[in-house]
Parts: sequence; C-alpha cells; structure tokens
Amino acid sequence: MRDAHLDIIEQARENKQYLCGRCRYVLDGVPIDQQRAIVCPECGYAMSFVVSVRLVGDNPEHDQRVRQSLGRTERIIIRLSVLFIVLVFIAVVYIVVF
Ligand SMILES: [Zn+2]
Repeated sequence: MRDAHLDIIEQARENKQYLCGRCRYVLDGVPIDQQRAIVCPECGYAMSFVVSVRLVGDNPEHDQRVRQSLGRTERIIIRLSVLFIVLVFIAVVYIVVF
C-alpha cells in the first residue's frame, strides 16, 4: 500500500523549492525513498521529509486572543518577579541611605 504522506510530500515539492540542509543544493527532482528519506547528491547529507498536521479553529480571532492571553502560572510568575524586583530595589535603597 502506498504511503499517503508521499503524495503530500510530492505535492509540497511541486509548490516549493527544498534545499539541502548542509550545502543548500537544490533538491528538485532528487528522488525520495519509501521511508521519505532523501540524500543530497552533492554532499551526501541524508534528510527526511516529515508531514505535520495542525488543528486550526473556525474563529481565528478567538484563537489569536487565546494565544495572546497569559495562563494562570505565567501571571503568577510575572507578579512574583515584579514583587522580587521591588523588594530588591527597596533593599538597595535602604542599604545606600542607611
Ligand atoms: Zn548537500
């Protein structure tokens, strides 16, 4: 049975130019094997195509808002950092003045 990812990879290669990760040789027309691997004919560097899948929401504005909002842990870390900086500043002022 043919690997469905090979079709996706072939389609991607038709739309974009891929270069060797080591010598920047243009890999147009260089065959890939059944394990999605490709070897640069110029320098022999072995690479593999990886197909990744992303799930995107129907409401990009909502996704953007969620991505920009900080989680609870991040907010606590920022508050503790600000408190620490203020305490260090007070300690330095106290040492310099007294
Ligand atoms: Zn190369």
